Amino acid sequence: MKIKNNLKHIKSTLPEDVTLVAVSKTKPVSDLMEAYNAGQRIFGENKIQEMAEKYNEMPKDIAWHMIGHVQRNKVKYMAEFVSLIHGVDSLKLLKEINKQAKKHDRNIDCLLQIKIAKEDSKFGMSKEEATMLLQSNELSELKNIRITGVMGMATFTNDTTQVESEFKFLKSTFRELNSIHSELKTISMGMSGDYQLAIDCGSTMIRVGSSIFGARNYP
Ligand SMILES: *Cc1c(COP(=O)(O)O)cnc(C)c1O
Repeated sequence: MKIKNNLKHIKSTLPEDVTLVAVSKTKPVSDLMEAYNAGQRIFGENKIQEMAEKYNEMPKDIAWHMIGHVQRNKVKYMAEFVSLIHGVDSLKLLKEINKQAKKHDRNIDCLLQIKIAKEDSKFGMSKEEATMLLQSNELSELKNIRITGVMGMATFTNDTTQVESEFKFLKSTFRELNSIHSELKTISMGMSGDYQLAIDCGSTMIRVGSSIFGARNYP
């Protein structure tokens, strides 16, 4: 009941054009099924193996999003079913995704992860790197992937002024990149603690975990 109520509450606060990704990492399938039965069809995971196991056990009308850092040698385990990969940060990785998608005769949508936080630990590309990637001839040869937007993670801080400026930076980066690659439509930013601010700054896709499923227990 709790998960269903949390979902209902969050959805009632979202503008229609904002997509909710339910981040279910570390949570058991029974929790995901509670969200599924409440109508949720998009789930986000940050580990490929865990996502593949849940994919096998759950109904097939779910859109699975990979939101974590992607290791190239593991792309093959999700190529058959993943619907959106948020954390793409190199041409090398895109080539592997393209290769694996081709094997399954699919197209896989990808978001470029842009580094917006000050912390060193966050993955992602600079605006300049993303621009070069989108303009490269090699990209245009990858027929089984499509870059449909950008993703970013703000600094983990209570300083909302800083978080706001990072979100605004991602929005302006999106605009600039969209002028050279007009297929872009998605800005994935905002988590449990900051999704309202993210939406105010132009997010079109939020990734919410603990506010739906409760706090995570890491072993
Ligand atoms: C875990 C995770 C989230 C969700 O975090 P919550 O604070 O639980 O909402 C969002 N995005 C990414 C990339 C994550 O790894």
